[in-house]
Amino acid sequence: MRCQLIRLHWIRISLHEPFRISNGEVSERDAILVEIEANGATGWGEAAPMPGSFYSDDTPESTWEFLRQRLVPSFLENPSFDTKRLSDWLQGFNGEPFAKAGLEGAVWDLAANVEAKPLWQMLGGSNRPIESGAAIGLMRTTQELLERVEKFLGEGYRRIKIKIEPGRDVELVRAIRERFGDIPLMVDANASYTLEHKRIFGELDHFGLMMIEQPLAREAIAEHAELQRRLRTPICLDESAESIPAIEEIIRAGSGRILNIKVQRMGGLWQARRAHDLAQKAGIPCWVGTMPELGVASAQGLHLATLPNFTLPSDIEASARWYADDIISPRIEISGQGFIELPGGAGMGYAVDRRKIEQYRLRLEEFRA
Ligand code: MG
Repeated sequence: MRCQLIRLHWIRISLHEPFRISNGEVSERDAILVEIEANGATGWGEAAPMPGSFYSDDTPESTWEFLRQRLVPSFLENPSFDTKRLSDWLQGFNGEPFAKAGLEGAVWDLAANVEAKPLWQMLGGSNRPIESGAAIGLMRTTQELLERVEKFLGEGYRRIKIKIEPGRDVELVRAIRERFGDIPLMVDANASYTLEHKRIFGELDHFGLMMIEQPLAREAIAEHAELQRRLRTPICLDESAESIPAIEEIIRAGSGRILNIKVQRMGGLWQARRAHDLAQKAGIPCWVGTMPELGVASAQGLHLATLPNFTLPSDIEASARWYADDIISPRIEISGQGFIELPGGAGMGYAVDRRKIEQYRLRLEEFRA
């Protein structure tokens, strides 16, 4: 295959409400879209780091610079459209998982379009609808939280996830259980606790939660294992599950019974699939987490989520959940039963809307091969 060009589009779309977790918040979604053209076909990928650096080391600025100065020029010197080989090549660069996920996603989409196959098939998944769960950030009041839970249950979401932090945890869970009974419920601590908080987790253990996501620090592999031994509730690792070696260590140590796999953090679809396969072998169920991304990366995450060991509801939500607008057509929607149906057709099955990209674009850079 001959690569004709690559374009990078830095876009920004407003959120309806700030995305707030225990260590920061944002009110806009930046994304760098990677558009690649080869043999008359087009592929799209998305790198979706958060502004600021509260969420990861990668920011839109650092990802943009890495893509335009290093990754794209190196790729164009000797482009590979074999997605597995491309992934191995990307692993040769230090860090920058978001940039890698953006470029690799574009090549996957291109390869699927050239072969006229849906992305799920290229990834080894199946054509099945994906269960969607709603994730709710830290709210100002318990009342506001309860209103959110009610709204999302009404929209059909298959489980509710709430963010917690020290001082705002057990009471929130109790309030939801009292009001809504035995709904599928989980909490995400975003690494904001230590083993000093054992008593809190002992209390949370009585509420029949689906899982407690990332209670302790990212590097606290042994401590997570110690906490998991004390709890009936499964611990789900998210921030800790940042690479294949990290996941191998988690499995060896018994740090948790569930994994949240994020394409952006893993540095692409192939690494995410490897993580899925490793977990499957170890008998650890997974789900596809989000950062949360715009339409291109969300759509690709949906295709990935059709792999057989992604048995728990995904964080991929309807486009309208977070964003004032989106860049794909149709937008992602959930059914009243809380499922997202893949649209069918080649590649990701959603079309990228160029008018929207122009409308929301901050920067454009074009590379001709
Ligand atoms: Mg999380």
